[in-house]
Amino acid sequence: MKIFYLLLILFTILVEAETHLIVLGSGTPNPDPQRSGSAYAVIVDEDVYLVDFGYGVVRSASVLSSQYGGKFNQLNAKNLKIAFLTHIHSDHSGGLADLVLTPWIMGREEPLELYGPQGLKDMSKHLLAAYKLDIDYRINGSQPSNPEGFKINAHEIEEGLIYMDKNVRVEAFVNNHGGLNNSYGFGL
Ligand SMILES: [Zn+2]
Repeated sequence: MKIFYLLLILFTILVEAETHLIVLGSGTPNPDPQRSGSAYAVIVDEDVYLVDFGYGVVRSASVLSSQYGGKFNQLNAKNLKIAFLTHIHSDHSGGLADLVLTPWIMGREEPLELYGPQGLKDMSKHLLAAYKLDIDYRINGSQPSNPEGFKINAHEIEEGLIYMDKNVRVEAFVNNHGGLNNSYGFGL
């Protein structure tokens, strides 16, 4: 009987996962000062999943983070570890340098896991090349950062199931974005 109750409690915890969808930015390519670049955070219990990372993504997350007086420790920069990119347009992806470097500087010790359309691997590779000197300095300078947290594992996706863990299953589907191929929506 005790085992039954334990299973029941565990099941209840799993079913009652606390989930939040937070709009971190709803901007367009226009630099409206009231709107950060497109980005969303899906929080499930202690984990957070980003969808898109437009300009200002980490600062927008910090507004609600426990580190800066908000209620979500999941949104502390070092906890930003997984992101899904809908399409390669800059208003959705322009915060990538921020998402790679700021959480690392703030203590993220594992590579950023990125899922998105064709072109994401090249973008990741060239971004790291662009910041090579800064990264070298941060690893080898007077206040060394860890040697893993700046890395990017970029996964280029197609339609279908693209990610699964204990909290979420993520399915990608192609959407219509005018003349742009490889634009996706996600079902979480
Ligand atoms: Zn677009």
